Amino acid sequence: MNLVFLGPPGAGKGTMASRLAEEMGIPHISTGDMFRAAMAKGTELGLKAKAIMEAGDLVPDELTIAMVRERLQESDAQNGYILDGFPRTIPQAEALHGFATIDRAVRFEVAEESLVKRLSGRRVHKPSGRIYHVEFSPPKEPGKDDVTGEPLIQRDDDKEEAIRNRLKVYHEQTAPLVSYYEAKGILTTIDASPEPDTVYESLKKALA
Ligand code: AMP
Repeated sequence: MNLVFLGPPGAGKGTMASRLAEEMGIPHISTGDMFRAAMAKGTELGLKAKAIMEAGDLVPDELTIAMVRERLQESDAQNGYILDGFPRTIPQAEALHGFATIDRAVRFEVAEESLVKRLSGRRVHKPSGRIYHVEFSPPKEPGKDDVTGEPLIQRDDDKEEAIRNRLKVYHEQTAPLVSYYEAKGILTTIDASPEPDTVYESLKKALA
């Protein structure tokens, strides 16, 4: 099954995508993670993306589309995948439509006021991508990954000013994708405001 996860930053797409991908044995393809990996490696793409991401703006469509097109050609993506954070603009969705068949777009709906709280409390274990929240999903030991004990970090774009900009960009450029996938008849909306286990159950029901 080829899935697209849609929703504002902080809706829990990444958490749900990594859990579902593991259960289904398909890759979780997060364009944000791919850009962060490119930045960490210091590749040309990473250098181009760095300042844009730190401000919470969008990386240009042509770079993002080329990266995803290439990723979907890899062997592990031939039996399904979850796209998390892509597409984020109508041109990206149209390009995707030209080189992939999407079975379902799942929209994660959360009240705006919860998003800032979720994002500002988010902490990440960089090597594994494991996601925690200081209040809602804390690690066993504060500031440390449960599995490795390594330090957790706060993403630069999870700081207040970048968060506000990311939400603005979401409303202007990404929210129109809801109608795009609705018109194609493949949109499913789930309530992503409850705690993670409940959201995961709704997600599985929605896809059953
Ligand atoms: P995310 O981890 O999905 O919140 O993405 C973090 C940042 O990566 C975004 O704020 C953008 O700067 C960039 N990014 C991720 N996915 C895309 C995309 N599909 N189009 C453009 N920029 C993206």
